[in-house]
Amino acid sequence: LFDVLVVGGGPAGASAAIYSARKGLNTGVVAERFGGQVADTLAIENFISVKATEGPKLVAQLEEHVKEYGVDVMQNQRAASLTKQDNYQITLENGAVLNAKSVVLATGARWREMNVPGEKEYRGHGVAYCPHCDGPLFKGKAVAVIGGGNSGIEAAIDLANIVEHVTVLEFADTLRADEVLIRKAKSLSNITIIKNAQTTEVVGDGKRVTGLSYIDRVSGDEKSLALAGIFVQIGLVPNTEWLKDSDVSLTRFGEIEIDSKGATSLPGVYAAGDATTTPFKQIIIAMGSGATASLGAFDYLIRHSDE
Ligand code: FAD
Repeated sequence: LFDVLVVGGGPAGASAAIYSARKGLNTGVVAERFGGQVADTLAIENFISVKATEGPKLVAQLEEHVKEYGVDVMQNQRAASLTKQDNYQITLENGAVLNAKSVVLATGARWREMNVPGEKEYRGHGVAYCPHCDGPLFKGKAVAVIGGGNSGIEAAIDLANIVEHVTVLEFADTLRADEVLIRKAKSLSNITIIKNAQTTEVVGDGKRVTGLSYIDRVSGDEKSLALAGIFVQIGLVPNTEWLKDSDVSLTRFGEIEIDSKGATSLPGVYAAGDATTTPFKQIIIAMGSGATASLGAFDYLIRHSDE
């Protein structure tokens, strides 16, 4: 029986595990892949106090730090359901059941991909998903933003300060972003917005992105753009499908609803990181929220220790 079982081994889960173990609690981490999205990241330049690092390096350091505390780390395991019977039960896809007095949910999120040729090949070599992270890599160059929703238009406005030119490609005939953002984007001379544009291919020279192809959905013409970078902003999907049949409240986007202590709608169940309603998705924010969730769980356990 774990005092705290953390589901997810990204920065939020790692931080939750360390905070919980440091309280002397019997702590476990169950994760499909330790490191989460950080394992897929090349340069990281906004992890404050570390000027520059790389994803795999940070993951190795996270793992070393977690193991320092004797946390039981169960890797390559996917949680399939959360139930409550006296304590909480996390059932894994392989059928095993883990019991815990409290749980921290930190299963993160994944960027929705365009699924066009070239996207996977050039991921990290011109294809990017996070303007806060990778915007400065394209200083003075031409980039595209795919998606005209709030995140796409925000990304375009953000990038317009750094890069030479931003072309926004929206599939539909209207932008879904808030009017105030659209107005701001239209006021900037280095942003071009193209609607009815279906991106069909990411083009590169074998090393880096050099452009993209798209179809004008009105005329049917195929067109191309020369670019150094492509920011895909068509949605961030929380990894919470496995919680749909539980009593944990999710928003209509699938995000776990939490309060300022990281508490979910279920007593003793806390959540942190990109899987939650936290408005900004970053490593440093995920780590902070992991600490919050564990301190929340500790608070809960000292009040319910003899039940
Ligand atoms: P994640 O990192 O998504 O980790 C989720 C964990 O849960 C993983 O261990 C996963 O295997 C596990 N998991 C998921 N489902 C299950 C399940 N059912 N059962 C068990 N385990 C499960 N942020 C920055 O601050 N700076 C950057 O430079 C930066 N660059 C980025 C570049 C890329 C390409 C990407 C994709 C993201 C980048 N980010 C960056 C964002 C940052 O990586 C995330 O905000 C952060 O990793 C979120 O941490 P998390 O722990 O909440 O989730």
